[in-house]
Amino acid sequence: MRLQVFFLCLSCLTLSSLSQAQDQASLHRSNDHAGRCHYTFSVASPEESSCPGGSTKPEIDGVLSRLTLLEALVSRLIAGVDGGQEGLQDAYSQVTGEKNQLQQDKERLNRQVQELQRRLDELSQEAESLRQKPCQQTHTSEGSQRDSRPASDPAYDFGDGAYQEMKAEVTEVPASHLIPEGNHNFTGCGELQSVGDPELHRKADSITGKYGVWLQDPEPLGPLYSNKTVWRIDTVGKDVRQLFAYEDMVQFSRGFPMKVLVLPEPVESTGATMYRGSLYYQRKRSRTLIRYDLASESLASRLDLPHAGFHGQHPYSWGGYTDIDLAADEQGLWAIYSTSKAKGAIVISQLDPESLEVKKSWETNIRKNTVANAFMVCGRLYTVASYTAANTTVNYVFDTSTGVGRSVAVPFKNKYRYNSMVDYNHAQRKLYAWDNFHMITYDIRLGRAS
Ligand code: CA
Repeated sequence: MRLQVFFLCLSCLTLSSLSQAQDQASLHRSNDHAGRCHYTFSVASPEESSCPGGSTKPEIDGVLSRLTLLEALVSRLIAGVDGGQEGLQDAYSQVTGEKNQLQQDKERLNRQVQELQRRLDELSQEAESLRQKPCQQTHTSEGSQRDSRPASDPAYDFGDGAYQEMKAEVTEVPASHLIPEGNHNFTGCGELQSVGDPELHRKADSITGKYGVWLQDPEPLGPLYSNKTVWRIDTVGKDVRQLFAYEDMVQFSRGFPMKVLVLPEPVESTGATMYRGSLYYQRKRSRTLIRYDLASESLASRLDLPHAGFHGQHPYSWGGYTDIDLAADEQGLWAIYSTSKAKGAIVISQLDPESLEVKKSWETNIRKNTVANAFMVCGRLYTVASYTAANTTVNYVFDTSTGVGRSVAVPFKNKYRYNSMVDYNHAQRKLYAWDNFHMITYDIRLGRAS
């Protein structure tokens, strides 16, 4: 572009010179002495006006001077072009440097992101391991389970939401049977003869262990769990879903669970039981029974227990929404509860362990809220008179094979004075109980019915 400008200027200078010369030229006509016409063409010289003998040097000097100016101009133009290239080179270098700096910043930030991601992973693992520890459970308080009202029947709404802890109306019943001779080594199914002293296995170390359920499966299906596996649910809290598994009784006593299973539905109260590889329990604030399969860790069956009172309608004497109590024995799976039709008397139903359907039901003649707890042994229901008295009794038995119930008086000890759960394990031939933070067992002795 700049070279084009140069040639344009050069053309202008040349034309200018010619134009100036034309302005100073003239044509003259005259006759000579012979009468002929002469034409004279004159061009003015910058130095002199006479025609002959003129020098061209000043004109050449002028042209040279102009050329010198043009050369200088061209030099400046070329220098200008070179200067532009240098400027571009500088700008390019600067941009390249900034690009490299940005690339370094990006790599540094990527490293920081990776480091933060690694620390996040570590913290997540630590949080998970803390959740696995029993001391880190997120239960709220002992009273949280008291806050809800009976779900459907206002007649059973006690209004203030307090524990329905009523002392059992203990009726002293004289012992009707002595241990028949020959029953000391009896290992078959029979009637309850005696309950031994409580044996302590574990004491809960926080308020969430005030009451709960702990069990072993009398008929485990394996291979994941055996009859040595111990299971525990702390039922204090609004949303009870954690099922702790311990490898054996030693680890249970030490408080080291091997696994924590999260149940699909929250647990109500202390009536859960373990049978043939499944945990059976009552869903919170409902009469819905849940079968949770331990191997697949999934809900296997759910079914409403027909007409069963729940959530404070027909609890045991200590309250705690112990309306539906599940039990397993030598003869299968059972539900212990009451209905409005039975007017609070204990109803026993044998359940299909797969579907949870009721196979057969019996209505007893003992009110559920007058006894502290109940358990099944060899198809017989037994009730415990008090949950607080240090020395109380198993005060009633109902035999489902005959449909007949009667009073008994087998001594039973509440050593820690707040017994919230009693369940029978026929493989161990023991009662499992949770007495005021203390997880205990009782040896029992059976004998032929007399
Ligand atoms: Ca029970």
